[in-house]
Amino acid sequence: MGNEARRRAYLDALGITAWQRREANAESAREGETAPAQPMATPPPQAPTSPGTQPSDPSPSSQPEVAGLDWSALTEQVAHCQRCRLHETRTQGVFGVGNPEADWLFIGEAPGAEEDRRGEPFVGRAGQLLDAMLHAAGQSRDSVYIANIIKSRPPKNRDPKPEEIAACLPYLRRQIQLIQPRLVMLVGRVSAQTLLDSTAPLGRLRGQVHRLPGFGIPAVVTYHPAYLLRSPLEKRKVWADLRLARKTLEEGM
Ligand code: SF4
Repeated sequence: MGNEARRRAYLDALGITAWQRREANAESAREGETAPAQPMATPPPQAPTSPGTQPSDPSPSSQPEVAGLDWSALTEQVAHCQRCRLHETRTQGVFGVGNPEADWLFIGEAPGAEEDRRGEPFVGRAGQLLDAMLHAAGQSRDSVYIANIIKSRPPKNRDPKPEEIAACLPYLRRQIQLIQPRLVMLVGRVSAQTLLDSTAPLGRLRGQVHRLPGFGIPAVVTYHPAYLLRSPLEKRKVWADLRLARKTLEEGM
């Protein structure tokens, strides 16, 4: 299967069947069939933070335990981490996967059962859908980096607790420092609200370019693939989010 045919197959998986490169035919009727471009907002207004529900101090300097650690030392520390009680029930820590020098960093919520078993984020059906999203955007698991805000699986896939997020976030922040991505994709409500220090619903956080507090890196919010499996009609919105992210990267915002 050629590259274009493969891209179309991935777009089919996203429910987007008629996309073609803008430069190929800017006036094409197909362009009108894609999800509408989202308005850019720079910087966007932040919803008020609810005290006590979000981890405090998002600055990279608030990570004394991991400051200065290189990639392999950081990986090792996550593998043996007992900073919160999730280590008691996990199979293994799920550090992340992909290119440690990637331009795009995808950040989800926490490992599920399959991720806990395999030690890799976004696997199983949701992972396959994320792969389709990546390929539709001209990327792959090897060209981007994929991580979660929580490295150990919460029991029964419940939302991570604020104290667990607070304990684990220094690892992600150090990963961001080391990767130095040009754009961060915040995948799902928990990731978006945590890293934007917001309580706004995901639908209000989408469709604009945020700046990651403490880093200043452009950040775009989108739905979690697990949610898309339950709500396939939202796939077009994800495609719009990916287009916004790619446009942001191309314009070097
Ligand atoms: S979730 Fe994070 S802080 Fe908690 S044990 Fe796992 S790696 Fe450590």
